[in-house]
Amino acid sequence: MRDRLQKYDPEIFDAILGEESRQQAELELIPSENYTYPEVLTALGTVFTNKYSEGYPGNRYYGGQAYTDTIERLATARARELFRAEHVNVQALSGAAMNQAVYYGLLEPGDSILAMDLTHGGHLTHGSPVSHMSRVFTFHRYKADASGHIDFDEVQRVAEKVRPKLVLCGHSSFPRDLDYAGFKRVADAVGALTMADVSHIGGLIAGGVQPNPLDHGFDVVTTTTHKSLRGPRGGLVLSKAEFGRRIDKSVFPGLQGGPHMHTIAAIAVALKKAAEPEFREYAARSVSNAKTLAGRLIERGADLVTGGTDNHLMVMNTVDSFRLEGRDAQQALEDVGLATNKQLVPDDTLSAQRTSGVRLGTPAATTRGMGDTEMIAVADLFVRALRNRGDAAEAKAVRSEVRELCARFPAPGPLLPAPA
Ligand SMILES: *Cc1c(COP(=O)(O)O)cnc(C)c1O
Repeated sequence: MRDRLQKYDPEIFDAILGEESRQQAELELIPSENYTYPEVLTALGTVFTNKYSEGYPGNRYYGGQAYTDTIERLATARARELFRAEHVNVQALSGAAMNQAVYYGLLEPGDSILAMDLTHGGHLTHGSPVSHMSRVFTFHRYKADASGHIDFDEVQRVAEKVRPKLVLCGHSSFPRDLDYAGFKRVADAVGALTMADVSHIGGLIAGGVQPNPLDHGFDVVTTTTHKSLRGPRGGLVLSKAEFGRRIDKSVFPGLQGGPHMHTIAAIAVALKKAAEPEFREYAARSVSNAKTLAGRLIERGADLVTGGTDNHLMVMNTVDSFRLEGRDAQQALEDVGLATNKQLVPDDTLSAQRTSGVRLGTPAATTRGMGDTEMIAVADLFVRALRNRGDAAEAKAVRSEVRELCARFPAPGPLLPAPA
């Protein structure tokens, strides 16, 4: 199959090979990225992409659904069991769509949502001014203090003032555990629904190393499937049974058309993997690797937001640590084969294009099989690259050490050509 593509469309084929060797030769430290399983890639590349399946199992708009119903039922049942959810929708095309489907399904336009400040870790889909969601719903904010602690008396004062319909927690750059019981208390006090967007930590919850908001009585939990869960790109909406109908109708026909059945097949495979004992080890190791990486970075003089991490990610203030804006730090790291992303720090005074920090995390490095020893080596390479920015000889030396480390811990996937 690969030779046919190579012959027919060499430009695209070469880009695929290029990306395969880039992924193999660079160390992925972006905490939202991962290397999925070869079995997932196989399921993605199948004829399920040919099929229209608008509707839900047993109730579709088109015929020919024997096999689509099988995979969607399996995906849904596996997610229900893994996350102890009463209801699951697996059709959202991505994380952004899954969150929109929840807002539209449970709220009316103009309703208020209380969510985390975006520079403190909230996601774009939690009402960033550049997101359409901020034109439809009214977002109010809470923050964490410098140690990452959230003052729930303060959150409750805000909630009593703005009377949100939905209390939303969850993050894409917050390195600490969330107190779900605290959020639930605030929501109950003002009669609001509770939603946790665990997109980043879905795999850590599935692996049993982080608390599950559903166990704390949350109404809705959303998660992407491609981050710490190691599946294909997609989104799950997990909820109490009473919201199931509204959420299903909101995903389809409210927001989307035909579901991507090849993706749903691949999600089902990833969920089967996530229920294996090895996945629990993987999740635990992602967290212990992050703690080791953070500890070493701090030892070497780095300033981390909240002073460390409880999960798989950390945010480094690169201005305070190395007198480098996030944008420049990201570039210096990319030049040596370390992939990170620039990141706003709490109450950042620089723009989202420049930023005062970078965000890094361990799910992808952990998938490659790296452990504590490698995390210490990575922290040292990281500091060397930033301290010696602009020194071409030093960058070359660091880059070759990164490649050597990556070669010893190959990423899973189809057979890759040796990096050039
Ligand atoms: C990644 C992420 C999303 C969005 O996922 P996409 O698949 O990129 O649309 C939503 N919420 C949070 C907290 C995330 O980290």
